[in-house]
Amino acid sequence: MTTCRAPREGFAPAARSTTSGVERYDAAMIRYQGTLYRPPSEAESLILQATIGCSYNECTFCGMYREKQFRVRPIEQLRAEIEWARERLPHTRKVFLADGDALVAKPAFLHQVLDALREAFPTLRRVSCYASPQALQIRTIEQMSALREAGLTQYYLGVESGHDEVLEFLKKGVDSAEMVRVAGKATAAGVRLSTMILLGAGGRRLSLEHARASARVVSAIQPRFVSTLVMTPVPDTPLWDLAEQGQVDELDAVELTTELRAFVADLELHRTVFRANHASNHLPIGGTLPKDKAVLLSTLDAILEEPDDAPFVPASLRGL
Ligand code: SF4
Repeated sequence: MTTCRAPREGFAPAARSTTSGVERYDAAMIRYQGTLYRPPSEAESLILQATIGCSYNECTFCGMYREKQFRVRPIEQLRAEIEWARERLPHTRKVFLADGDALVAKPAFLHQVLDALREAFPTLRRVSCYASPQALQIRTIEQMSALREAGLTQYYLGVESGHDEVLEFLKKGVDSAEMVRVAGKATAAGVRLSTMILLGAGGRRLSLEHARASARVVSAIQPRFVSTLVMTPVPDTPLWDLAEQGQVDELDAVELTTELRAFVADLELHRTVFRANHASNHLPIGGTLPKDKAVLLSTLDAILEEPDDAPFVPASLRGL
């Protein structure tokens, strides 16, 4: 999924205190546990850790929550943090519920969080979270619709690939048909989807098939946003171990551009913002599809014709 490590400045550490033997949560802060990740587009959002970790935590390439045991945080702690933020950031318009798949938490809990947010922030415009395919499997359309009405209007979904062999390699836990089905549930609930595709995930052998299959799946989903990342082995993941054994092709910038071109060429979208602005990308480009498709393709063609002059981001400056 598309991520950035979120800066934590400005939020003082939490303290637990005891009054008359009863442990009380002292919200002189917002407490973040472990490394915090959020999508690039949530850079201006208030981030609340409604849950810790990822309940699935199996994806081959993902090292974000390996060290965290999944749990839902006590609502009293979140209410205290929201109250802290209400006093200091009263004009908050966007909130991101971390960590990896807050949607998997029980709807009754999420409604309590959303109610507290709406009460605290009159200008609140959007609450969003990551949604794993597994969370989308267990949530009903009715539940997601009710949560949307309560303010949870956008999910970030790591589709990663539309190619079943690649999805199996990545251990996403669903095939492409199931990915489209569960994404369709969110759309039917009126939730805005922001989807991510992992360039390079098929290696050299499946590069173009991965691109085309991913375009088919994204076109079937019709998300409001689609972004690309570049698959990058990170330590303490199965992908890293395979890369150490020389079993992972890491595509170069020209190969990634060829794959990206094949992906964009096959996209059939009605109204989707496309971005390749994640820090892992070799080529930051973007536009609105279908309006900008021809320009995007001609840009990519020009780069492939003269790759030596292309504004590729050096590998040393890229990262997950
Ligand atoms: S579902 Fe998302 S957060 Fe969880 S392991 Fe997979 S990529 Fe990581």
